Amino acid sequence: MSGHNDHVEGDDRSTRLTVSREAVHQRRRRAAAVGVLGGAALLVWGIGSLFAGSDGGGGGHSGFAARLARAGGSGEGSLYLARTRVENDAVKRTIATSPYIVRGGGERKQVALTFDDGPSEFTPRVLAILEEKAAPATFFTVGGMYSTYGANASRVHSAGFPLANHSWSHPQMTALSTPEQGSELERTSGVIENLGVPAPNLFRPPYGAYNQASVAQSSKRGMLVVLWDVDTLDWERPGADAIVEAALSQARSGSIVLMHDGGGDRTETIAALPRVIDGLRAKGFQLVTVPRLLADDPPRPGETPPPVGQA
Ligand code: ZN
Repeated sequence: MSGHNDHVEGDDRSTRLTVSREAVHQRRRRAAAVGVLGGAALLVWGIGSLFAGSDGGGGGHSGFAARLARAGGSGEGSLYLARTRVENDAVKRTIATSPYIVRGGGERKQVALTFDDGPSEFTPRVLAILEEKAAPATFFTVGGMYSTYGANASRVHSAGFPLANHSWSHPQMTALSTPEQGSELERTSGVIENLGVPAPNLFRPPYGAYNQASVAQSSKRGMLVVLWDVDTLDWERPGADAIVEAALSQARSGSIVLMHDGGGDRTETIAALPRVIDGLRAKGFQLVTVPRLLADDPPRPGETPPPVGQA
């Protein structure tokens, strides 16, 4: 899909500007925001520390979660199900207060690594590093890739990592009609469900470009729009050192880091990943999935910037 890749590389430039502008909005809003953490959030935090989706605390991580799930079963009352329920509830709560996010609350030293544009031939190598290092991550996948690489998506799920929705054909959503946007989301959620995986509850619009229709179509299907505040620019293939530097220099508490496991040759991303993981941990960050981040350290209400295209 070289055309797909070219498209990605051209358009993410404007996305970067958009996200930077959003980050400024967010900082301004943060200054005025009054953070209120309800009892539910504290309860979530307490329960969450017992389970995976994070790599710190009690040593829980997704590999551990997968083993736990196998050992304890995944039926009613299992730890695996309890963890999933806590995280899914956190996503629902977030959607209710802000249907799109760029980062977590920033109250805990947690960072969420995210991988876009898979599944691809490179996904298993990314996955092998994450599993080797017991580092959770979230995968925003393109539905059109499943016919070729669906098995690699299954492996992501089996490893305990969330499979999220990144549209069917990687279009600029803002160029599509509302029904077309709905179809992009619907088809991809469908192929994910066809793997026997619950319908995704996270959606990332390609290029970070979205409008009110995108948000509405996403919310309607129970999906939170997830952007990012740290772009490693790995799609530009700037060299592994530059990817590592971008991640480590920009990540702060609550950051959502954008990387890619598809959409082109991801050799540099794969070369950088072990150092990104080790470097973030050396700075004291705990790696978590996006749902875990929302459960442990939700964005504060009223803090999220207005959607692109709304103004
Ligand atoms: Zn993408």
